[in-house]
Amino acid sequence: MPELPEVETVRRELENKIKEKIIKEVTIGKTEKIIQRPAPIKFVAQLKDKKIIGLNRRGKYLIICLDSGERLIIHLGMTGVIIYPYDDKTIQLKGLNSKHNHLSLVFTDHTQLVFNDVRRFGKLYLLSNSEEIESINKLGIEPLEDNFTLEVFKKILNSTKKTKIKSFLMNQTFITGLGNIYANEVLFRANIHPLRSILSLTEEEIERLYQEIKTVLTIAIQCGGSTVADEAFRNTSGEKGSFAEKIQVYARQGEPCKKCGQPIEVIRIEGRSSFICPRCQKL
Ligand SMILES: [Zn+2]
Repeated sequence: MPELPEVETVRRELENKIKEKIIKEVTIGKTEKIIQRPAPIKFVAQLKDKKIIGLNRRGKYLIICLDSGERLIIHLGMTGVIIYPYDDKTIQLKGLNSKHNHLSLVFTDHTQLVFNDVRRFGKLYLLSNSEEIESINKLGIEPLEDNFTLEVFKKILNSTKKTKIKSFLMNQTFITGLGNIYANEVLFRANIHPLRSILSLTEEEIERLYQEIKTVLTIAIQCGGSTVADEAFRNTSGEKGSFAEKIQVYARQGEPCKKCGQPIEVIRIEGRSSFICPRCQKL
């Protein structure tokens, strides 16, 4: 699923493209379960005539701020993509199908933004300025913000010493934004086995891990995110992200480790595939 770098890619692009635009028409698809709140009729009515004043991100949530104080919050789920400016022909050429369009916003300049989601795990919320959602409230620290220092990282680790390090990285309430691709990459680059407990990590390993979290996410944003075989991520022009070319372990089982040549192995941890080099990442 899209992780921090993919959502940040979309946020940055939309900030340049749709800020100051006014919504003229709103159309929703048949899959109303994507609209979490308010009820679809209200959702459509409340979006009309609103001006977009800014774009934020919290973890894997994209937040579109409106001049009314309301926020349109989008979670891309597994396969959600936002295309702008949208036209039917271009998206077909890029392998997307318009029958999976679930939200369309037409602006007063006649350009159109579309939310397309094949697997329909995406979620949309339209919240007033006082309304909040629990899944966002309980998110942990943003790893690319200045307040995520090594000292703070150590404090968070200390609060949950028995946890296995990969479960820790994947848990959005400690640090938010890492999913399966980037958690695997960070651990490989730091030479740490995903099943190591936090308690067993040395000072040096903790420092390496801290640096790699920042480095991997930063490079991935520069690459416009990752589009890998089983994931459908696209940027707002429908193009794929290029971090996949820099991936060291994710989905590379059987292929040689880029550090030592040993074949990459796959293990299951909490229902997700973990990719490791058995020589570089010792348990
Ligand atoms: Zn290796």
